Amino acid sequence: MTSLPNGESSSGSAEAGSDIKRLQQAILRFAAEREWQQFHDPKNLAMAVAVEAGELMDHFRWVPNDRALAALDDARTREGVEDEAADVMILLLEFASVCGIDIARAVERKMERNAVRYPVDLARGRAVKWDRLGDEPSADNQ
Ligand SMILES: [Mg+2]
Repeated sequence: MTSLPNGESSSGSAEAGSDIKRLQQAILRFAAEREWQQFHDPKNLAMAVAVEAGELMDHFRWVPNDRALAALDDARTREGVEDEAADVMILLLEFASVCGIDIARAVERKMERNAVRYPVDLARGRAVKWDRLGDEPSADNQ
């Protein structure tokens, strides 16, 4: 059992891991039925993740930051955002499968590293990269 940075145990994480594996199997089956594996190499999948992330961002283009969440009150916008978030996830999960990455484990490992890089007492309320946390807070976002 792994202890997560937020203090939760990983007993739920094992369950999430099996959910992820189930999704990955469905995604691989979907691609295989269409004989798309020939196109789904790591480079193409990495590019596809970035393209879909761009499509996700496009829903927020020119939306002021303080209106971004409220933009989801519009049903059509919300559906579009959900579709693009799903596209990002689908392609990322397929990328992980094709590359032999245990994505649940990779996320846990990265969160553990982030907890070390972003100690709560230094990072709370600050939007700066980990290697700038030692700088004076007045230098944030410059
Ligand atoms: Mg899309």
